[in-house]
Amino acid sequence: MKLILLGAPGAGKGTVAKLLTKLDGSVQISTGDILRGAVAAGTELGMKAKAAMEAGDLVSDDLIMGIMADRLKEDDCKPGYLLDGFPRTIPQAEALKVMLTNMGEKLDCVVNIDVPRDVILDRLTTRRTCESCGEIYNVKSNPPKAEGVCDKCGGPVTQRADETEEAISNRLDVYNEKTAPLAGFYEKEGMLLTVNATSSDAVIEAIKAKIGK
Ligand code: AMP
Repeated sequence: MKLILLGAPGAGKGTVAKLLTKLDGSVQISTGDILRGAVAAGTELGMKAKAAMEAGDLVSDDLIMGIMADRLKEDDCKPGYLLDGFPRTIPQAEALKVMLTNMGEKLDCVVNIDVPRDVILDRLTTRRTCESCGEIYNVKSNPPKAEGVCDKCGGPVTQRADETEEAISNRLDVYNEKTAPLAGFYEKEGMLLTVNATSSDAVIEAIKAKIGK
């Protein structure tokens, strides 16, 4: 399947994407993971993105479109892809539309995961992420078996640099200003599925019902 997952930071896009990959072999593409990998590796891309990321601001549309133009051409995208954290601005959505048309591809739908702000805040402050494989944990509801060690790959499980209270609050403001308007954009395109659910399983069921898979 080919989906965009929309939703505020902490809405559960990454968790839902990971569950969906198991259904039909579609690949999760998280621009946040790609950028964090580049920062950790100290590449030129990472150096350009680091300051904006740590402050909870968006990285430039040009940088993101450059990443995605290459990423969507890779062979593992053939069975389908789940875009997690991209697009995040109207210009990115417009550029993606042109890119997909040129590639002769069509999305199944755009899923907008709508979760109340208090749930989001609680999730973001208690979320922990594996620095190596990106697996997501939660100190309250889903801690790793050994503290600070990833169950899946043994990598270090830590709090993201942009998950301080100040950066979280900025990320939510940026989301409301720059990314929330994408719901209207995709509604007009007739592609939007809004799901009001705090459970990932409920989101998965709504997606299956919508696209018939
Ligand atoms: P995420 O893991 O999706 O929350 O992304 C972490 C950070 O990476 C964001 O706060 C932005 O600084 C940057 N980022 C990720 N995806 C995008 C995007 N599509 N456009 C601009 N910045 C992005």
